Amino acid sequence: MTIFIYTFAPDLAMSPSTLFKFMNPFIQLGIRHDIVNAITELGFENPTPIQEQSIPVLLTGSNDFVGLAQTGTGKTAAFGLPLLELLDFDENYPQALVLCPTRELCLQITNDIKNYAKNVKNVNVVAVYGGASISDQLRQIKRGVQIVVATPGRMLDIINRKAIDFSQVKYVVLDEADEMLNMGFQEDIDSILSTTPDDKKTWLFSATMPSEVRRIAKKYMTDPFELTMGTKNTGNANIEHEYYVVRARDKYAAFKRIVDFNPEIFGIVFCRTKIETQEIAEALIKDGYNADSLHGDLSQQQRDKVMKRYRERSLQLLIATDVAARGIDVNDVTHVINYSLPDEIENYTHRSGRTARAGKTGVSIAIIHGKELGKIRQIERVIGKKFIKAEIPTGFDVCEKQLFALVHKVHNVEVNEQQIEQYIPRIMAEFEDLSKEDIIKRFASLEFNRFLDYYKNAPDLNAAFEDRPARDGAQGDRFNRTGMRSDFTRLFINLGSVDEFNRGDLLGYICNNTKISGRTVGKIDVKGVYSFFEVSNDDVDKVFEGFKSVDFNGRQVRIEISGDGGGERRGGGGSGYKKREGGFRERGGERREGGGGSRNGGGFRDFSGKRREDRTERRKRF
Ligand code: AMP
Repeated sequence: MTIFIYTFAPDLAMSPSTLFKFMNPFIQLGIRHDIVNAITELGFENPTPIQEQSIPVLLTGSNDFVGLAQTGTGKTAAFGLPLLELLDFDENYPQALVLCPTRELCLQITNDIKNYAKNVKNVNVVAVYGGASISDQLRQIKRGVQIVVATPGRMLDIINRKAIDFSQVKYVVLDEADEMLNMGFQEDIDSILSTTPDDKKTWLFSATMPSEVRRIAKKYMTDPFELTMGTKNTGNANIEHEYYVVRARDKYAAFKRIVDFNPEIFGIVFCRTKIETQEIAEALIKDGYNADSLHGDLSQQQRDKVMKRYRERSLQLLIATDVAARGIDVNDVTHVINYSLPDEIENYTHRSGRTARAGKTGVSIAIIHGKELGKIRQIERVIGKKFIKAEIPTGFDVCEKQLFALVHKVHNVEVNEQQIEQYIPRIMAEFEDLSKEDIIKRFASLEFNRFLDYYKNAPDLNAAFEDRPARDGAQGDRFNRTGMRSDFTRLFINLGSVDEFNRGDLLGYICNNTKISGRTVGKIDVKGVYSFFEVSNDDVDKVFEGFKSVDFNGRQVRIEISGDGGGERRGGGGSGYKKREGGFRERGGERREGGGGSRNGGGFRDFSGKRREDRTERRKRF
């Protein structure tokens, strides 16, 4: 087939390379072709907001710069690409120094810059960090380098050995400046910078702007160009923050239940101390979870090994201390779990910043004791965002979620027709006496029974508490046993995550159909095939009215008043509403008390990781 393209404007005819130049936004920002080709291969199609705004400024090479931006927003390319444009790679002496807080970040930045520079000749980038052979690093420096990426301690060591000459450095980047100060690197930074020329330009990036960072900005910079992405000190808007209130003794069980409720979790779990980190990781491994620990008592080799497994996704849960996990850039982390809240509020931003990177979404969870609510409110003030109070799922919730995860997996599994073909006649013969429905039931029960068994006596792990907003002079709102405001009613809706609703979607869906304001909707609890949401008692009728004849994908949407908690049946004429009582899915129904089942019956946290042997190994444990 021949395709004719008619153009009436011959002047506009463009060769493919001109078209690429015309269209590619990085070219328009001033980045050269060779580099754009390399970053296009990395999947960078459009600049992130920080790149869009900082690259033109930094490319002038004539400004000091302060960029207030969260981790994961594309900061490395924001400074890395301009450096590659500004430096003279025909010369082989240090022209740029990037200081960052951790070895992991140091390696990441080095690697990233090397990747951007893949098509540029004679670019030499050296990573300088502690915990690795200094002689290797010295050798690399001796061979000639234009960009040094370093952690402060090792950098100073090398300077003190007079093994590097920074007298011609033109640009210094202080990345994650707040972290470097938190880690006590202020003096080292001072000493390092004193070896660089006065007229160099300093570019500082920080997720938060405590007064100490302000002070170094003032000390090292003249009239810097300041860029704030989002509000100062706020967290990434793509992160949803949730907290669960549990009794101290139930914390571990609650944590496991959250994990079981999220079969596809790929998470980082933060603990406060190295000992706690190690203990939780060991307990999880013993219970059959795919977890490992990352903390400072491990050797560098052990840490590298754990990180490699996590990056490759052959590890599902990384249990880490703040220091060890700082700066980790692993894509697609779905959940950050604060098993213990950090001592320093600022650290919460760094922890949660491990998820929702590069425009993705993520959830940051805090498992707390009732007494720690004050800390949650403090964090809310720092990140400028409200936490959602979530409830530890019941055993039934977990079973249902796992069942549907299994159903989805069976549905989507790739069949190797060639390999399986030879067995089909025998398989068919085995199933001859069973109907299609029987076979489906049996396949599903294979895994489901184990969960049902494990969770059959699972107790409610939510601690009763009262979250009274402190209001001067005002009486706190009245709350019922479960922490729900007594002027709110809890409603059931027969839509859930299997219908691809998350909390935000459901809130929008409710408001659209009922015309009530989102502000009068309280807690939303999205389950598998159904959900619960709270609305102000005054709006209950409107909800029933709004959903009276609404269809979702051919299914009648059903609203019921939940029997759970303070949802008193309000007046109003909507027909057919009944109070939901008991039954398989009823949260408020009678709960069976008792142990939580045996530990290593903890379920098929099977995960769509790449490595088969992990799954096989895990299966052996059950
Ligand atoms: P950073 O904040 O530099 O650690 O970047 C966070 C993640 O975003 C890294 O995995 C980068 O590879 C990725 N990234 C940075 N810039 C872009 C972009 N323009 N398009 C797509 N991904 C990006």
